[in-house]
Amino acid sequence: MMDVDNKAEELASALGVTKQEVKADLESLLEFDVPLEEAAQSVRRKHGGGGGGSSTPETLDLAGISTAQDSVNVTVRVLTQGTRTIRYQGEDVTIREGKLADSSGTISYTAWQDFGFEPGDSIVIGNAGVREWDGRPELNLGQSTTVSMADDTVAVDQAIGGDSDLIDLEPGDRGRNVGVRIQEVDSRTIDGRDGETTILSGVLADETARLPFTDWDPHPDLEAGGDCRIKDVYIREFRGSPSVNLSEFSTVEPLAEPVDVTDSAPQLSLAEAVDSGGLFDVEVVGNVLEVRDGSGLIERCPDCGRVIQNNQCRTHGEVDGEDDLRIKAIIDDGTDTVTAIIGSELTEEIYGGDVSDAKEAARDAMDKEVVAETIRERLVGNAYRVRGSLSVDEYGPNLNVESFEEADEDPAALATAALGEVRQ
Ligand SMILES: [Zn+2]
Repeated sequence: MMDVDNKAEELASALGVTKQEVKADLESLLEFDVPLEEAAQSVRRKHGGGGGGSSTPETLDLAGISTAQDSVNVTVRVLTQGTRTIRYQGEDVTIREGKLADSSGTISYTAWQDFGFEPGDSIVIGNAGVREWDGRPELNLGQSTTVSMADDTVAVDQAIGGDSDLIDLEPGDRGRNVGVRIQEVDSRTIDGRDGETTILSGVLADETARLPFTDWDPHPDLEAGGDCRIKDVYIREFRGSPSVNLSEFSTVEPLAEPVDVTDSAPQLSLAEAVDSGGLFDVEVVGNVLEVRDGSGLIERCPDCGRVIQNNQCRTHGEVDGEDDLRIKAIIDDGTDTVTAIIGSELTEEIYGGDVSDAKEAARDAMDKEVVAETIRERLVGNAYRVRGSLSVDEYGPNLNVESFEEADEDPAALATAALGEVRQ
């Protein structure tokens, strides 16, 4: 009977029907002395699964798994495990997520129940569903999945347990632990799925980077200026850069020893910064190649703040535009280029005047473009040290500038040196 049970479970998972239904079908066929494999084929055909072997899980190395498989068997080491509650089909479900590894590579997983394994465990997973996420395969451990301890330790190159430097965190990471200084923290009320709730948000730092964070289940130990070890955080993308998220399952433990925090942002070559996919705080040195259209004296929608033309907002229609100053400059360091977005305050400094000065200049010349032209003459061809928040999306890399200073150094030489350092 055990065989029938296992087979029913396997079929149910592959065909997307209940185990009871499949088992009833199998048992009625077995009553007529149909061999189990043949009975399974009939059940597959009945539920539209075809006669193919794709519904029988293959035993594979992680590198061999593709989204073409429905389910697989693997022997792996658990690298990380995070716990979260998500709302699934109207109900709160506690899931566990993280990364698994073998000698061939790594894969992300989601477990829909507690299988009892922990980071560091070597396990054999039977009949894990394969699903596609962001074009890559992930493992789905559900009701029809089996997990048992492996006889031998699975040797892997990756670090086990989830301890991470902020600079190494990427959107999608789960079950990470960080040691940080809380630099800023604010409490605010949001309209959550269960009505109004209070959340915390702010900035945290270690010696490698600064990142924004959100605490969805406020932890009282998160205080500005405090040093703490936070366990079980997950990483999401926030405006193109990683952000640290705490849930009810995250723990915050005050640290006796202060965390080293550098005041400076990591200085990277543009190629390195863009490759990282987004950074909350980064410093680059580059030449201004071009000051783009849409710089200088511009108009914004009073409702949404978007830059508009001819008093037409794409969302709000005909509006009375508000004058503002900004710069969109293309910065190049020989390894790559980014568009630096410089807000009104810094633009005033660079331009040497405020909005009313700019409007006066535009009136005198009877051309708004004179403002951008003045900025262009100041910036193009010169080297600057630029610090800000880098986002990389379908519009390309944008650097939201916090500070902008003339640089004495040669950008190309600096970029080459930075590349060398990172590659060591
Ligand atoms: Zn608008």
